Amino acid sequence: IIMPSLHFGVIGMGVMGKSLALNLADNGIPTAVYNRHVEGKEEKIASTFATENLDLPLLKGFDGLEEFISSLEKPKKILLMIPAGNAIDMQIGQLLPMLEPGDIIIDGGNSFFEDSKRRYEELNSKGFHFIPMGVSGGEEGARKGPSLMPSGNQEAYDLVSPYLKKIAAKDNNGAPCVSFIGNSGAGHFIKMVHNSIEYGEMQTLAETVHLMKYGLKLSYPEISRTLKSWTNEGLKSYLLEITADILLAKEGKNFLLDQVLDKAGQKGTGSWSLTTALKYNVAYSPLSEAVTARMLSGNKDEREELATFFGHRFGAFGEDKVIPIEKIKNAYALTRIINHEVGFELMNQVSLTENWNLNMSEISRIWTNGCIIRSTLMENMVALYKENSSLLKAKQMKTKIKELRYDLSYIVGLGIQHNYALPVMSAAINYFYGRITTDSSANLIQAQRDYFGAHTYQRRDDPNGPFHHSDWKGSI
Ligand code: NAP
Repeated sequence: IIMPSLHFGVIGMGVMGKSLALNLADNGIPTAVYNRHVEGKEEKIASTFATENLDLPLLKGFDGLEEFISSLEKPKKILLMIPAGNAIDMQIGQLLPMLEPGDIIIDGGNSFFEDSKRRYEELNSKGFHFIPMGVSGGEEGARKGPSLMPSGNQEAYDLVSPYLKKIAAKDNNGAPCVSFIGNSGAGHFIKMVHNSIEYGEMQTLAETVHLMKYGLKLSYPEISRTLKSWTNEGLKSYLLEITADILLAKEGKNFLLDQVLDKAGQKGTGSWSLTTALKYNVAYSPLSEAVTARMLSGNKDEREELATFFGHRFGAFGEDKVIPIEKIKNAYALTRIINHEVGFELMNQVSLTENWNLNMSEISRIWTNGCIIRSTLMENMVALYKENSSLLKAKQMKTKIKELRYDLSYIVGLGIQHNYALPVMSAAINYFYGRITTDSSANLIQAQRDYFGAHTYQRRDDPNGPFHHSDWKGSI
């Protein structure tokens, strides 16, 4: 008979589950681990993992699900670190007969938030607690301190928060990068937006490096040095730092980056954000372009065929490297601000519709450490979102944005004239002008709709007034 003495259980001994289990045990939390059995595969994954880590005696491995469950104190706290989708429903289905009302299941994977909303309702109606929780930071973050985005309800959160606070990363003031995000699936929703901003940040860096490599003909070490120097100019970010490292990595005499095939994949969270933005009627072009760019990259054979067909080559910008580098830096800086603005606007809108009361300053705070999009900008956003609903409306940002926009326009123009695809940078400047213009071109759209479909339009001299239909042909 196993005495229920362990405080926390982790199911799924993949990259993330193992690292989080070690993090829990390292922080003095007696932790049980379990991994499913698949026919023909290693059967004792969990117990082997525990024996490999005998220096952490608080970690116990169980190869049977029932033993694993029996080892946990009440209310049982079980963290699932397994793939999103069916696996979660199946695992929950297997667990429920072994649990009692009041027990807590936490889904720490990248589940789609609409699925998490459904699971939350189902489990709550049966008396179980369910905590959809975003986890960011990759393997290293999970081991040393991730950013955690738990949701569900406050009561369940309070039961697990002492544990989560121990294992989470700490911000600049030493406060843990975890906080109750909102009801139901809010935690997975913001993790999805986090990943979408991550896609945008990565693509913006890829465009930046591309311009420097082909346009300015800089070597990887020169680009790396330039990027590193930007970290001292308010542009510090985890992704910038790892990019500067990547540019220096070598395989023999060659740069490793040149050996990497230029085809990018994606696992779901990137495109889910687009469908969500469409559903909630939120303009999302810069971040959606980051996903589209990955899709376009996927068709390498066709790209090669069409490159020959059109004789496509990148042009160089000429000899004067000093001015464009400064301009590229500024273009990069403004694109990043807009990427964050777009992601946070989606959170604003969905929060209103779902009644989640998302706190943008607090979300920025838990994203200042442990997660992939941590940066100086994110640190600044903690204060900016205390006073403003949007980065574009923040007085502290106005002068800076006004200066940077000239360079972003310049670089996008220059890049496109020289045959570079700059999907995120160009979408960013378009989005920006779209947001700040008084006279949009939409009057013509409304006129066309009324001309061919009698869709009616509102008038400038009565903007909140009734809709009109005109006889366009008859008035020519
Ligand atoms: P992983 O290394 O592929 O591990 C997945 C684990 O889930 C394995 O232990 C696997 O067991 C188990 N599993 C697979 N199918 C299962 C099923 N049907 N029922 C029960 N267990 C099953 O994945 P990971 O990178 O740790 O990611 C886990 C979750 O965290 C995913 O949702 C992922 O999106 C999310 N996440 C990952 C990262 C990251 O940087 N990797 C960061 C944040 C969030 P077997 O060995 O038996 O197949």
